[in-house]
Amino acid sequence: MSVPLLPRVAYFCMEYALSEEFPIYSGGLGVLAGDHVKSAADLGVPLVAIGIFWSEGYTRQRLGPTGVPVDAYPVTPREALTATGAKATVTIRGREVTLIAWRVNRHGAGELYLLEPEREEDRWLTRRLYSGGPDLRVAQEIVLGVGGVRMLRALGVAPDVYHFNEGHAVFAGLELVRERMVAGATFPAACAAVRQEIVFTTHTPVLAGNETHALPLLREQGADLGAFSDEQLEALGGAPFGMTVAGLRLSRIANGVAALHGETTRRMWKGVEGAAPITSVTNGVHSPTWQDSRVRAAYSAGPAAILAAHQEAKRELITEVRARSGVALAEERLIIGFARRAASYKRADLILRDPKMNPLLAEGRVQLVFSGKAHPNDTEGKQLVAALAAASKRFPTSVVFLEDYEMRLGRLLTRGCDVWLNNPRRPMEASGTSGMKAAMNGVLNLSVLDGWWPEGCEHGVTGWQLGDGYEGPGQDEHDLKALVAVLLGEVLPIWETDRTRWGQMMQASIAMSQWRFSSDRMVEEYYERIYRRAPLVRAAVG
Ligand SMILES: *Cc1c(COP(=O)(O)O)cnc(C)c1O
Repeated sequence: MSVPLLPRVAYFCMEYALSEEFPIYSGGLGVLAGDHVKSAADLGVPLVAIGIFWSEGYTRQRLGPTGVPVDAYPVTPREALTATGAKATVTIRGREVTLIAWRVNRHGAGELYLLEPEREEDRWLTRRLYSGGPDLRVAQEIVLGVGGVRMLRALGVAPDVYHFNEGHAVFAGLELVRERMVAGATFPAACAAVRQEIVFTTHTPVLAGNETHALPLLREQGADLGAFSDEQLEALGGAPFGMTVAGLRLSRIANGVAALHGETTRRMWKGVEGAAPITSVTNGVHSPTWQDSRVRAAYSAGPAAILAAHQEAKRELITEVRARSGVALAEERLIIGFARRAASYKRADLILRDPKMNPLLAEGRVQLVFSGKAHPNDTEGKQLVAALAAASKRFPTSVVFLEDYEMRLGRLLTRGCDVWLNNPRRPMEASGTSGMKAAMNGVLNLSVLDGWWPEGCEHGVTGWQLGDGYEGPGQDEHDLKALVAVLLGEVLPIWETDRTRWGQMMQASIAMSQWRFSSDRMVEEYYERIYRRAPLVRAAVG
């Protein structure tokens, strides 16, 4: 790519997972954004990112005495922050809030600015990510969106393209419209003009997961949004105001995060008039962050070298498991990993529902390592975590639950397990980047054909598909049957009798994923198909 010709992009996201030492993220969205800015920095492309400095980040979650998780909120360290001196003001609940911008000076973040209120007494706004009710959320989204655009002006950055990563950033679009109206444009003309500058990525394949806000709430929270009439707000986001609907109407192109998710997204929003065409750009992960350097080095030396490199990573995982839980997993036996946010559609406990698994687990022929966090207010998710913790009591030497899933643990698991299990209720997994991390480390995916996996799976070669993509009544039973059949009929026999073939599959998994599911490929694709203007019409599928 010839860098000087590339558009200058302003990337907006609520969270960035750059390092476990700098916890201003909750999960997958943050990991994606963190990997996006790291790859942009590695590639030297002109991308400026905007986020929020969360002073107590996201929860650290430990199991309480009954197995139900308990949350704690440590203070986020500030060593990674450099003051820029830039300031911008937003109005929240009738009060002027001055924002400052910190530049992140480490973790490979490139040009990332984090906003924070200048005055201590305004910092309740940016204390905890995804906490509180809709009024706090709207206020935080005004900081990110409205504050973000104003801060770019204060920093002297003039973007060609604004990329909203998920609907949280949509108020930035309203601010861009407002700017044009202040300069004399009519509302429709201002909308048409900003639409040429905005691109939008949506992640949530479940309607209920897409945030909406009552119009009066928008007005109460921010005088900055008071520049618009109800009719104007409704014309963009509907009533209640849908952040995704507004994102689709304010952008020139929108995308889902895997090919299948693109289809799901088009189906979900096909009734939205005036929406941008929706295409897809499949996610990727930052290989220097997620791929084990020993495995990367062994890759070209062949299957035996890969197996040996993997064994070292597996030993490190076993050591960590022992330190955390006291359980000594067997190095020569299969370890299946499953680490995800504890949402019920991910069905973490699926594999435990078939009695055929019991003897395998009792004998330790199969060892399961679970990890995951529930949203602090998600009682159902917390029950799910408690159920996994209970399973580890039933099979004390072969089922482990590791509390407080975060990046470091994610790294250990996606290189130290032998198999990476993924069994969401299709099509609810938009992408699922942990499977890409596993694939790059030769950890073989055993997954439902959801998210990215239909693009990466060659059954019996790069990993295994579980089921045939069936969606409908009895899906859980269908998928469970398929899971146990593939595990007993294919995965275990290869593991137990044909380690050479296993090594070949590891190599095929790395070959398949190393470039195609890297965030370097992803960022290049955003520049070529989304940020650049020319080929957009052809690239978009409508
Ligand atoms: C990679 C990662 C995720 C996202 O993975 P999914 O497959 O989307 O669940 C979430 N949390 C952490 C800590 C990760 O490392």
